[in-house]
Amino acid sequence: MKVLKFGGTSVGSVSSMLNVKKIVEAVDDKVIVVVSALGGITDKLIKTSTMAANGDSGYEKEMKEIVNRHIEMVYTVIPAGQKRELLLDCVNELLSELKDIFQGIYLIRDLSPKTSATIVSYGERLSSIIVATLIEGAQWFDSRLFIKTEKKHNKHILDSELTNRLVRETFHEIPSISLVPGFISTDKTTGEVTNLGRGGSDYTASILAAALDADVLEIWTDVDGFMTADPRVISTAYPITELSYVEAMELCNFGAKVVYPPTIYPVCHKNIPILIKNTFNPDAPGTIVKQEADHSSKAIKGISSINDTCLITMTGLGMVGVIGVNYRIFKTLAENGISVFLVSQASSENSTSIGVRTVDADLACEVLNEEFAKEIEMGEISPMKAESGLATVAIVGENMKHTPGIAGKLFGTLGRNGINVIACAQGASETNISFVVDGASLRKTLNVIHDSFFLSEYQVLNLFICGIGTVGHSLIEQISSQQERLKRERGLMLNVVGIANGHKALFTRRGIDLSNYRQELDEKGIPSSPQVLQDEIVGMNIFNSVFVDCTASPEIAGLYKEFLSHNISVVAANKIAASSEYENYAELKQIARQRGVKFLFETNVGAGLPVINTINDLINSGDKIVKIEAVLSGTLNYIFNTISADVPLSETIHKAKEEGYSEPDPRIDLSGKDVIRKLVILAREAGYRLNQEDVEKHLFIPNELFEGSLDDFWKKIPALDDEFEARRKVLEKEGKHWRFVASLENGHGVVALQEVGRNHPFYTLEGSNNIILLTTERYNEYPMLIQGYGAGAGVTAAGVFADIMSIANI
Ligand code: ADP
Ligand code: ASP
Ligand code: MG
Repeated sequence: MKVLKFGGTSVGSVSSMLNVKKIVEAVDDKVIVVVSALGGITDKLIKTSTMAANGDSGYEKEMKEIVNRHIEMVYTVIPAGQKRELLLDCVNELLSELKDIFQGIYLIRDLSPKTSATIVSYGERLSSIIVATLIEGAQWFDSRLFIKTEKKHNKHILDSELTNRLVRETFHEIPSISLVPGFISTDKTTGEVTNLGRGGSDYTASILAAALDADVLEIWTDVDGFMTADPRVISTAYPITELSYVEAMELCNFGAKVVYPPTIYPVCHKNIPILIKNTFNPDAPGTIVKQEADHSSKAIKGISSINDTCLITMTGLGMVGVIGVNYRIFKTLAENGISVFLVSQASSENSTSIGVRTVDADLACEVLNEEFAKEIEMGEISPMKAESGLATVAIVGENMKHTPGIAGKLFGTLGRNGINVIACAQGASETNISFVVDGASLRKTLNVIHDSFFLSEYQVLNLFICGIGTVGHSLIEQISSQQERLKRERGLMLNVVGIANGHKALFTRRGIDLSNYRQELDEKGIPSSPQVLQDEIVGMNIFNSVFVDCTASPEIAGLYKEFLSHNISVVAANKIAASSEYENYAELKQIARQRGVKFLFETNVGAGLPVINTINDLINSGDKIVKIEAVLSGTLNYIFNTISADVPLSETIHKAKEEGYSEPDPRIDLSGKDVIRKLVILAREAGYRLNQEDVEKHLFIPNELFEGSLDDFWKKIPALDDEFEARRKVLEKEGKHWRFVASLENGHGVVALQEVGRNHPFYTLEGSNNIILLTTERYNEYPMLIQGYGAGAGVTAAGVFADIMSIANI
């Protein structure tokens, strides 16, 4: 014999109802079908009662909707005929009783728990008679007659002995198809209608399965099984094939709504497997819950959470070593019907934290303050403090037993993502580690853990890309073309969750469709500003996230500190931060280190060339940078390689801008500012404390050209052409080339235009290329040479991409 339970969503719509009929009629064994109320009806019944009790006449409209849902369902799923007429009579009778009850509540403005329980019972009573008519040959049973409760600590608790006896009596002969309303019950002494608690239909089914020794309990719902996490929060959650009873119990106790927690015990006790299946996708294998489940693969099986957590902490030196304090805490809470789901006590015994539901928090504080009034008065214990707005998360899996390092990995991952653990508990059974975090961090916490324990098939890196000029755009194109391959081959999902330019900013957790991002940004973006970026990005509090700066904006560079402090890594093509005041640069690096995130800016020097990483590798391996000589400006090199008798200086500058080599304002290149910034960055990475003003500069364009507007500059620059041409001719005769060289020796930086002869390694430097000559203690006689494209959107974007990838690999 099998027991099949169909939840609210399974009987919520016409198509799902028809699926239920098909599933039940296909069972080739005796079957007891337990059903919930039509999806959403229990909530609606509760809402309507509250409205009526508050004197809100709007309850009538709600009632009408309840009536319509049921009547429509009957008309659409049951064919016209005698059966339908009989069913309609019953349904209408129940609905009219319900209407009368609501009217009574409205008139007397009073809603007792007893009436409330009566009202919600109509949900299952109505749905069960509809399904009983729908399924050919089904015999309806009234669960109020055999599911019996008793009142304990102000709650209705199942009387299992009596219930089991009554169930066995009722089903001494089991028909081929029985139909039973879930959830509802009656008090064993008064006969009043009660229920088994929200979600209780699962429990009804389990009670029946256990009492009648069913072969299996099947829970049919709207997901493909018990998932690794709540699929409404974690989009990458996936169904678990097998769970042990213990694992299932731990997970649903901690909020995995798919199974009502008390459901597990009766069937576990009888060793009856539970199969969780999807009514909407019956071919999916679902999840099997049994005594011994497969533990061969992952360290943890699933994650679950409870978000309305309140932590009550009792502290005081008066508790240390005193026997009976815990006894009194739990006795007091139990006597007041308060359930405790997490306890954490330090071995010093001077503080005990208890996790309770928010609704119970005030009462819990009150009764504990009363219980310990004497100790509080004597100052031995501080008055109870309730911290609300928290969430409790549990990771569960029998594989955790005797596996070292799980807690380390868990807390390490949380720390790196800036998630503060307020309290934690791990039982000696080692199948569950629970901890409390701030409620606002819950989504991030679940994502981080899901991701890091490889419950997802891939790791996710969430990117915010700021600046969609040539570099930003190129980066987005590169990400877009690599996204699929990285996911497939490297198990890495690059999810662009934010894109912004100076005007608009677009954020979405799901990720932006990169093939169409400009249009989406235009249509759906909000007005952008550095403050908006900061508020939105920090506010999203998203896990494994990276801010990518492809702008040249000082205001955007000013946001890094805030981002790093919130555990968001920063990848910057923007040079402003790394070349700003030394203290600022050092502080950003320090925050990144402390927070366990990255601040990377490889493309600040030599675009995609591996310059900074190389210097870091040399230094980390114990080498010392003695001297750096470099041509670091692609723009200037392009200019000096292009200048000729036919192309005068002013024209080369125009060309450099048009070709996209120069900064948007070419004066930043011509004034040596760009090269100075780069030299400062190299020097710092090489271990020298250098600021921009410390660099000695010898320019080739008079200072006054840099004063005034960009337009003025363009007007004045042709005046230099003749003099430059004269100098160029002399240089040509001498067989030399101009190179704008940055050098660092003994911590002293110089930038200057140099004339280099044929034998100099910089002589043949083509186009806009860069060259960096590193003389170190190890690379001494023959310095290390790094050479290649030093500018251009494509190579710079590729360098930014490489920085992003190196974050994914931490
Ligand atoms: P029913 O009406 O069938 O009883 P419920 O709404 O009570 O369905 O439970 C199923 C829902 O539980 C799913 O739709 C899903 O959103 C939610 N849920 C939460 N955690 C989990 C989990 N770990 N696995 C599967 N579903 C979960
Ligand atoms: N209908 C009840 C509820 O919504 C019981 C159940 O669905 O299991 O809580
Ligand atoms: Mg349910």
